[in-house]
Amino acid sequence: MEKTDISSMDMEELQNYMELLGEKPFRARQVYQWIHEKLADRFEQMSSLPAALRETLDEQCFLSGMKAVDVQISRLDGTRKYLFELRDGNVIESVLMRYHHGNSVCISSQAGCRMGCRFCASTIGGLKRNLTASEMLGQVYRIQKLTGERVSHVVVMGTGEPLDNYDQLLKFIRIISSRQGLNISQRNITVSTCGIVPNIRRLAEEKLQITLALSLHASSQDKRKQLMPVANRYELGEVLDACRFYFQQTGRRLTFEYSLVAGVNDSGEDARELAELVRDLHGHVNLIPVNPVKERSFVQPSRQAVEAFKNKLEKNGINVTIRREMGRDIDGACGQLRRSYLESESGSFKTSEHVSEGRTSERKEKL
Ligand code: SAH
Repeated sequence: MEKTDISSMDMEELQNYMELLGEKPFRARQVYQWIHEKLADRFEQMSSLPAALRETLDEQCFLSGMKAVDVQISRLDGTRKYLFELRDGNVIESVLMRYHHGNSVCISSQAGCRMGCRFCASTIGGLKRNLTASEMLGQVYRIQKLTGERVSHVVVMGTGEPLDNYDQLLKFIRIISSRQGLNISQRNITVSTCGIVPNIRRLAEEKLQITLALSLHASSQDKRKQLMPVANRYELGEVLDACRFYFQQTGRRLTFEYSLVAGVNDSGEDARELAELVRDLHGHVNLIPVNPVKERSFVQPSRQAVEAFKNKLEKNGINVTIRREMGRDIDGACGQLRRSYLESESGSFKTSEHVSEGRTSERKEKL
């Protein structure tokens, strides 16, 4: 019999499940807290439950079977990239970034991705499958447990398109921000999307307090189409209308991500057009000098060109930052660590390109 994924259940589902087992409703709260607040990884740790219930749960359900199979530690800024193996053998990556304001974890929402953005490594092998809520939660839980440090911020910006996995994403957000869970403020949660219009609108109606980041990357429909196949499906105007709707419904300002690619979208004209597009949305533009991916030929603009682009936006009244690059010395761009892993036949990263001292020592210490 397939075991039940109890960690993907929200409180209501857990209450129904406990009722089915003939248990009182308060047991659901206890189990929920063991899983989502105390981060238990075995039912036998749930000491406030009767032994018989622990046994039943153990027979019928599983708790996250995720294994950390590798970790790379940046010697520049302490950023850690984790590679987790899921129960079915799929691997996903997550990143821990340490900032002054707290620890931020970047999670994957899918194993692979089907969006096909030209500069992104995550999409090269296509989509394997959606992650469950428990697999999204598990990335945060495991990192918090491995480091012993509280995670205060979550960004859904790893591999996958979160709005292509809507229901599980919503469950993830509700559980991780719940009081009987890690209680991470929704304001500290960012979801990044390539612009799936109907689901941006649906998300707006949920009236959450999360930050929505739109991967814009171009200031005209034509250019956007060259970089992001999703633009063939949704016109730039429609995407921005959906963003406007999101802002109206939630009162939350959006972030616009813009990966700068030399000679493609980094001209003064691009900056001026971009300013026009986002001005009335009062959002924030986050510039990301494109991270070179070995399968692709895109090149970062020079430091001066990036600064010039930023200045131009500022002159046009736009709030803008250049993304601080974290972990430059470890497989930097989205999905690159996972790809390295999938490419190395034995999965043991024997090529010089992938070996880092940090990883080796961490492996001995922690995994
Ligand atoms: N699917 C979501 C989240 C994934 S990636 C989305 O599209 O937003 C998070 C951000 O990193 C996106 O803005 C994505 O376009 C960008 N990105 C991906 N690969 C990149 C690369 N090689 N260099 C710079 N930015 C990249």
